[in-house]
Amino acid sequence: MPHPVLTALGLGNTESGTYLGNGEWSSDASAGVLEPVNPTDGEVLAQVRGTSTGDYETVIARAQEAFQQWRRTPAPRRGEAVRLCADALRRNKDALGSLVALEMGKSKPEGDGEVQEMIDIGEFAVGLSRQLYGLTMHSERPGHRMYEQWHPVGLVGIISAFNFPVAVWAWNAFVAAACGDICIWKPSPKTPLSAIASMKICNEALKEGGFPDIFFLINDAGTELAQSFVDDRRIPLISFTGSTKVGRQVGERVARRMGRSLLELGGNNAIIVDQTADLKLAIPAIVFGAVGTCGQRCTSTRRLFVHASIYDSVVEKLVAGYRQVEQRIGDPTDPANLMGPLNSADAVRAYLATIEKAKAAGGTVASGGRALDDRKGHFVLPTIVTGLSNDAEVVQTETFAPILYVMKFEDLDEAIAMQNDVPQGLSSAIFTTDLRASERFLSAWGSDCGIANVNIGTSGAEIGGAFGGEKETGGGRESGSDAWKAYMRRQTNTINWSDAMPLAQGIKFDL
Ligand code: NAD
Repeated sequence: MPHPVLTALGLGNTESGTYLGNGEWSSDASAGVLEPVNPTDGEVLAQVRGTSTGDYETVIARAQEAFQQWRRTPAPRRGEAVRLCADALRRNKDALGSLVALEMGKSKPEGDGEVQEMIDIGEFAVGLSRQLYGLTMHSERPGHRMYEQWHPVGLVGIISAFNFPVAVWAWNAFVAAACGDICIWKPSPKTPLSAIASMKICNEALKEGGFPDIFFLINDAGTELAQSFVDDRRIPLISFTGSTKVGRQVGERVARRMGRSLLELGGNNAIIVDQTADLKLAIPAIVFGAVGTCGQRCTSTRRLFVHASIYDSVVEKLVAGYRQVEQRIGDPTDPANLMGPLNSADAVRAYLATIEKAKAAGGTVASGGRALDDRKGHFVLPTIVTGLSNDAEVVQTETFAPILYVMKFEDLDEAIAMQNDVPQGLSSAIFTTDLRASERFLSAWGSDCGIANVNIGTSGAEIGGAFGGEKETGGGRESGSDAWKAYMRRQTNTINWSDAMPLAQGIKFDL
């Protein structure tokens, strides 16, 4: 019997991982199977058939054909297609949120929150479809008009990570669809069921609304198909979300064929708490940032710099907060629980190995520090490590688990320098009530991250802003603001409406 959360979405024990277009899901079983595991009990949830080379070619051919029509469709009409998807997601929010919680392991409110992000970016994209603005410029030549316009790029390949199994796709796909592109999604092999369910919900809504296929799905039982996807010249843009290690390879391969890549990679996010901070705000923000999604957000808080004068009391309050979270670790589909499991047995091993390394480097475990092996699944305790310096190897590395390194500082310049002194540059925050400290942190000589917050933690982001980070986080921006430009090509147009032919730079050609 399939898990009831799967049944609620019409999914069974065996699923096709390939949406071929024209309402067809492939029945080709030659490309191996993916076996997503329920992180709460370690059991396989279902079998998902991978995408064969033949099916991949069908997907590309149909996506190319779809693009011919979609790029001719007026942008506001494209927005209407996205609106129908967002509406359908709203109707299925509870069921899809439960599936995200079940398959990824995040808590039910976080699973629902992820679906809400899909709905929100859908609504953003509807408005955007009427605002794909270009500029007009004044030409230096008389009787000439100059302007720029934005055209769709074509096929967009979306490769996503396990930790945001559905929202990352929507951030890309809904904006790209409004821009006139056709999207092909390769989700994480750890969360293919959430992807299949999202595709079914959206594609059904598109069909009912009389729209063509604009979203395709492929799944890879290994990494060979993903690599040829990245190398495929027929896909001008690859949007990749995942680890810095894989993202570096993807970026290099796409650059080799002169394609475009949009990279959203790892973070090593820090919060600074100065001596004026309001701890009523800071403590819950730090605890949520560090333990939310069991430390498996790209924006999770991993480092904390506390002013020496309040260091002991902040650590004490955090440990007390962690004790409360420990009472509510469990099945993520039960909304009473604040923290679910890590996503995989490998993640538990990485968590334990990191704690051992931290201790070997001189760190002290102030809270947590062990796996919960009294039960099934991949549960661990959220952990606080003190006594390490920012340049310790474990502190410099993103371990995708709930481990927080707490460090002391004496003055703000020192804290900002330490916060910036890591290879990654995604999210950062300061808790302060001092205007000068806050502005210093946000200034050009302050935080070097793509996201810098004041009196709000590092994790989570509103879809209205552009999301992404610097340095080894990859430099890409997705979601709101003008991130849509990544999915379009810019064209500069000059129109001569005069009866003369003035050549550039005043050059004369006597013909
Ligand atoms: P991962 O790098 O292991 O996998 C990401 C995706 O890449 C998966 O779909 C995977 O199948 C695919 N992949 C693996 N090898 C590939 C290859 N050779 N070519 C092409 N694709 C390949 O990452 P993960 O463990 O799924 O996710 C966690 C990481 O993602 C963390 O580092 C986290 O910080 C990062 N992340 C970043 C953001 C962001 O917006 N910056 C958001 C979410 C997650």
